[in-house]
Amino acid sequence: MSETVPPEVDCPQCGHTIPWSEDYPHRPFCSERCRAIDFGAWATESYRIPAEPASPEELEEAEEEEDESPRHYL
Ligand SMILES: [Zn+2]
Repeated sequence: MSETVPPEVDCPQCGHTIPWSEDYPHRPFCSERCRAIDFGAWATESYRIPAEPASPEELEEAEEEEDESPRHYL
């Protein structure tokens, strides 16, 4: 065997086996579509983290400010 055979990789999205070569710029995904699907799933999941309520400290601070200023100046 003198020829260099590129290693093969399975697309994490659809399981299609593709050679690890320049022909597949989206590897390990077989196509841009598969990569987009996988990225979309990842983005959706990570979206939940910032969607959660702010830290209790931040909420307390905001409440204090709102509560404090009118009384202080009156
Ligand atoms: Zn794929």
